[in-house]
Amino acid sequence: MDKKMKFIFVTGGVVSSLGKGISAACIGRLLKRRGLHIFSMKLDPYLNIDPGTMSPYQHGEVFVTKDGAETDLDLGHYERIINTSLTKESSVTSGKVYSAVLEKERKGVYLGATIQIIPHITNEIKNRLFEAFKAKDDTDVCIVEIGGTVGDIESLPFLEAIRQLRRELGYENTFYVHNTLVPYLKTTGEIKTKPTQHSVKELTGLGIQPDALLLRCETNIDIESKRKVALFCNLSDEAVISVKDVPIIYEVALNLQKQHLDDLIVKHLNLKCEDHADMSDWIKLIEKIKRLKKSIKIALVGKYVSLHDAYISVVESLKYAGYDIDKNIEIKWVNSDNLNDDNVSEYLNDVQGIIVPGGFGKRGIEGKIAAIKYARINNKPFLGLCLGMQLSLIEYARDVLHLENANSTEFDENCTNNIIDYLPDQYKGIKMGGTMRLGEYDCELLEGTKTYELYKEKNIRERHRHRYEFNNKYKEIFSDGNLIFSGINPQTKLCEIIELKNHPFFIACQFHPEFLSRPLKPHPLFLGFIKEASRTQVEHE
Ligand code: GLN
Repeated sequence: MDKKMKFIFVTGGVVSSLGKGISAACIGRLLKRRGLHIFSMKLDPYLNIDPGTMSPYQHGEVFVTKDGAETDLDLGHYERIINTSLTKESSVTSGKVYSAVLEKERKGVYLGATIQIIPHITNEIKNRLFEAFKAKDDTDVCIVEIGGTVGDIESLPFLEAIRQLRRELGYENTFYVHNTLVPYLKTTGEIKTKPTQHSVKELTGLGIQPDALLLRCETNIDIESKRKVALFCNLSDEAVISVKDVPIIYEVALNLQKQHLDDLIVKHLNLKCEDHADMSDWIKLIEKIKRLKKSIKIALVGKYVSLHDAYISVVESLKYAGYDIDKNIEIKWVNSDNLNDDNVSEYLNDVQGIIVPGGFGKRGIEGKIAAIKYARINNKPFLGLCLGMQLSLIEYARDVLHLENANSTEFDENCTNNIIDYLPDQYKGIKMGGTMRLGEYDCELLEGTKTYELYKEKNIRERHRHRYEFNNKYKEIFSDGNLIFSGINPQTKLCEIIELKNHPFFIACQFHPEFLSRPLKPHPLFLGFIKEASRTQVEHE
């Protein structure tokens, strides 16, 4: 017999940015620790096919799964918090759903029927949920977050689809968690539950009666107020959970556990699992974070620095590496648009390490190159990610190898020395999605290099998201004894990692190691970088 499909649906009301992605991930963590296999999904109401082409200013970082899907940054929270690896099935947008339905309509799949939101769009959504559940053989429960806020026009088809699922799969196989905001009025010291009541009314009007309410609030919500909400919203008292603002996100999971949300879900969904989630490692981690005093100051040189979410995985990765050596990370956000060779030291002389993350397009490029040159010449620990590696090679070509007008064809199509280029011929031997190299690829490390010392293994796999590559035609010129190609893709010989020999720490990679960092398992490149940065003395003004 087919295994019963069980779903937890996570919605949000009152306002956006409630942190429902974090609560969905924390629920996943608790259930995983009770021995269950979890799959996570995010349904996004926007019409873009995926966030791949959306501006990081609007949407934050694009998170890449191992199979190369370009997804919402919430999937990064899921992977890191649940400690799991998701796939393209995890990310569904209205754009994907509509385009699949329209494509089928053109092919005549619907046999002349009038195509409508109900049932065609909702069926497509439900099928994607079923496919995701079945994507892994061992899934016990699938946690589905619905983006947006209840009441938005865009999210209605998703809400309708999940409403239908209770009817189809049964009460004992569906659990609805609704997140709302409970304002706290400082002057009177009161909390206000009215917006929550309205939001639940809106949801029940769509046919969904929540099974648990997560009330986000500045303070803890007292038992009387919880009872009041339970009464008005037609829930049992224990199904009303208070989610107090906390400085460390891992505490959210512990708060949910204290209020027995996982017990409620396990009982409702009739899940066979352990009685208790052992969260002792997280408790230790939280205690450790609270004790951290000394900081390491790292400059993050990018062009989207006004929106920190654009670099969320990089920042998390730096923090995890810091925790490992009992240090906090202080990030100095440096806008590359402002940098040039003349002023770069003013911006960077007080930091212990410099990181140049990924990016697209020409703006801010020369500023990043100035930062890389500063790091190279002044022996500052440096980590370059994706574009950061490409620019490190351009900087080296110009300043050390004196290759005239060295550039990437992304920024100057007619540059004399196209050391970074889009060369489809180089891809022979690997599978490409579209024109970008997306998802996990093999990398072989050169023994005896610093990179090899950090990873302590020869064969690794890392996630990519880029179109351009180092042009191997130049490899000989670059192999000057100081610049080392320490990681190579074994199938294509594409350059994956470089390092400088005569430098305390100068490593740059073509892939994105930030997608593989986990709270208790920092990525070796970030760890190596942060360790070296912690040993670096800076001038004090
Ligand atoms: N713009 C570069 C490319 O397409 C780098 C991309 C990135 O940093 N993710 O190759």
